[in-house]
Amino acid sequence: MKTLLLLLSIFSFCFSFDFKLKPIKLAKNSYYFYGKEEYFSVKNGGDISNTAFIITKNSVILIDTGSSYEYAEQVKKKIKQITNKPIKYVINTHHHPDHFLGNNAFSNSEIFSTEFTKNEIAQNGDLYIANLNNLVQGAMNGTKIKVPNEILKSNELNLDGYKLKLFYLDGHTKSDLVIYDENTKILYAADLVFNKRTLATPHANIPDWIKSLEKLKKINYKILVPGHGKIDRTKNAINEDIAYLHYLDNTLKNSARHGFDIFEILARPIPKEFKSFTMFKEEFERSIINLYPKYEKRRMKNYQE
Ligand SMILES: [Zn+2]
Repeated sequence: MKTLLLLLSIFSFCFSFDFKLKPIKLAKNSYYFYGKEEYFSVKNGGDISNTAFIITKNSVILIDTGSSYEYAEQVKKKIKQITNKPIKYVINTHHHPDHFLGNNAFSNSEIFSTEFTKNEIAQNGDLYIANLNNLVQGAMNGTKIKVPNEILKSNELNLDGYKLKLFYLDGHTKSDLVIYDENTKILYAADLVFNKRTLATPHANIPDWIKSLEKLKKINYKILVPGHGKIDRTKNAINEDIAYLHYLDNTLKNSARHGFDIFEILARPIPKEFKSFTMFKEEFERSIINLYPKYEKRRMKNYQE
């Protein structure tokens, strides 16, 4: 038995997980890798979020690095099949593990993020790796924390003459970076937008998130690349996410007012308008469990005052 286990562990170490990545063309020199609309698992290897890249005159700009070193290595290989230009620039949109844990595949790149995101990665990165080692296992081999080495502050980023507009927003986390490429009119909305994939809210502030989405709606983009789900050429994904956040907020407020328990909230039928969302049950449950105690506490406080 021991020998078998040893052989199995050697086997899983020698043969890396095949993510079967396919770059999807969005515009001239702009592509994205579509992540599965699932939660982290051994089967998907942690490939659950979108990653994008832009090929400029002399280099490649990569937006987010996925959830592991191996994923990022395979992203690099796929990009190399399209261009020989180096991936000189990497941008981390926020501090969730499915968006930055591939950073250590880019030892020679400039890695950009906001100061908040950088600090979160430095402080909690190892916890994220430990958690994903459990959930994803073998595909995490070789993943180490690499903290961003460039802090973003300005509203415009000029990378070898290629200009990108930056929006410093929040709501999904305390710092959500959105990138707008005026050359192609592509909006990289990060996890502020999920397209027909139920929003994940572990660090959410719902009112701030709605405000950020209202701002994004005003941008005259042609294509929106969400953090999760397929691209959107309309404003539908933003509108649906705003509607979902209002629904979540109202459900939590009304349930606290009526003194419902978590099970009563979760027993409700899925509203018609969200039936087309993937992962509704899992994410709604996660959101209620995480957010409801805060709403209950607020309700109690209001009573006492
Ligand atoms: Zn996220």
